[in-house]
Amino acid sequence: MSNQKLNQKSTDNMTIAAGTEQDRWARVKGRLRSSVGEDVYSSWFARMDLEQISDESVHLSVPTRFLKSWIQTHYAERVLSCWQAEVPQVHRIDLSVRTPVRAAAPAAKDAKAAEDRPAERSHAADPRAVATVPVSASHEALGGSPLDPRLTFASFVSGRSNTLALAAARQVAEGRRGDPVMFNPLYIHAGVGLGKTHLLQAVTWSGNSSIERKVLYLTAEKFMYGFVAALKTQTALAFKEALRGIDVLVIDDLQFLQGKSTQAEFCHTLNALIDAGRQVVIAADRPPSDLESLDDRVRSRLAGGLVVEMGSLGEELRLEILKSRVAAARVHHASFDVPLPVLEYLAKAITHNGRDLEGAINRLLAHSKLNAQPVTLEMAEREVRDLVRPQEPRRVKIEDIQRVVARQYNVSRSDLLSSRRTANVVRPRQVAMYLAKTLTLRSLPEIGRRFGGRDHTTVLHAVRKIEALVAKDLALSDEVELLKRQLQE
Ligand code: ADP
Ligand code: MG
Repeated sequence: MSNQKLNQKSTDNMTIAAGTEQDRWARVKGRLRSSVGEDVYSSWFARMDLEQISDESVHLSVPTRFLKSWIQTHYAERVLSCWQAEVPQVHRIDLSVRTPVRAAAPAAKDAKAAEDRPAERSHAADPRAVATVPVSASHEALGGSPLDPRLTFASFVSGRSNTLALAAARQVAEGRRGDPVMFNPLYIHAGVGLGKTHLLQAVTWSGNSSIERKVLYLTAEKFMYGFVAALKTQTALAFKEALRGIDVLVIDDLQFLQGKSTQAEFCHTLNALIDAGRQVVIAADRPPSDLESLDDRVRSRLAGGLVVEMGSLGEELRLEILKSRVAAARVHHASFDVPLPVLEYLAKAITHNGRDLEGAINRLLAHSKLNAQPVTLEMAEREVRDLVRPQEPRRVKIEDIQRVVARQYNVSRSDLLSSRRTANVVRPRQVAMYLAKTLTLRSLPEIGRRFGGRDHTTVLHAVRKIEALVAKDLALSDEVELLKRQLQE
């Protein structure tokens, strides 16, 4: 509404001056483009519009809060100086967020998109997906990944490690069509079996329960497959159209997204949806910065929404999950019962992930059914022996290494990343790179990138250097050991 008014007003005042304003703006954009390069320009500035020029200030707008804050923090000076090169009296840039204007009647469009292309009905074979999700035209056209009816908010147990992720997911699920989007994308990362898929499907179920909203859940593989398949049948346009008709796009296991063209398409889709005010929710097994196969632009765009990590399941949480699994099983198997001490034993012994917890309950259920015997502690110990694994060392992150090393040597983290070569920074930097190589699975180029964009040979040199020093310098060797222990405990 306010947008319409704004347009109206500017048409009313249409003067020759306005024409020249737009010309200037075009020249400023040209300067900006050549100053930051085509890639950066098209990622961040392509959707920036000129709203108004008054004496000393220029008012620009972008479609999302994210773009606004990104441009403000990274390119404010640059934008100003490009303006000043054209209009020297400009001293201030005001940047605001435009209200997203939704495409009219998306439903009609979807139906058309679905008609245009022979819908892949593979998922229609999955009775769960069809029976319970009000299948929208876009869902059908895209072949959303099958949903597990058990993975809902009702069965998701909250605990310290997932409070924030759960709150954010609920917020997203409760949003209504046209509501301003709070954080976009919502990016959830965690190791295997810690509840990512559960949470994403919960968002999908609850979002789809309202008729006016379309939530599409896709695994990254499905996204790739859908896109590639669509390209093959020459219906890429229909695919894109259909994607644009949805309100919430949920993508699971993003770390599996591969291939240059798929990634370019993903980047496109992401931008298109976010700019149109649609919500994007993503899960992966690592933070955006560690998605090595994606390019910088996509990574930074992913990192620009809300990034939440879910930690490992604490013992308490594991116990609660077990209880809720037993309760769910009892709906169909009323005689099934697991005494509390057995649950407590399982919660203590199976530390790994939610999948093993589920597996444990399934085994107990199968066993007690087949043998018509009550579940005992002894039986449980026998049944789940192979699920009880030795404690794995903690996942160490490069940021943690940098933080701990910086603190130890009394330098700042940005010193470690900087190009400064004074001895008091060089050594700590080398130690940090060495630790990154020995304590994480990151590759040399990746480590180089995370240390202020250094070359992999620099990292290799640092690793060799510290290895050699540790072998003969006892003090340094102790220091490094201490750091390792701090990082791994
Ligand atoms: P991921 O996708 O992160 O690998 P999943 O979402 O598939 O993990 O979770 C693995 C199993 O653990 C599922 O059965 C899931 O229901 C269960 N699970 C994980 N976290 C929770 C939780 N907080 N509450 C209830 N069940 C959970
Ligand atoms: Mg998963």
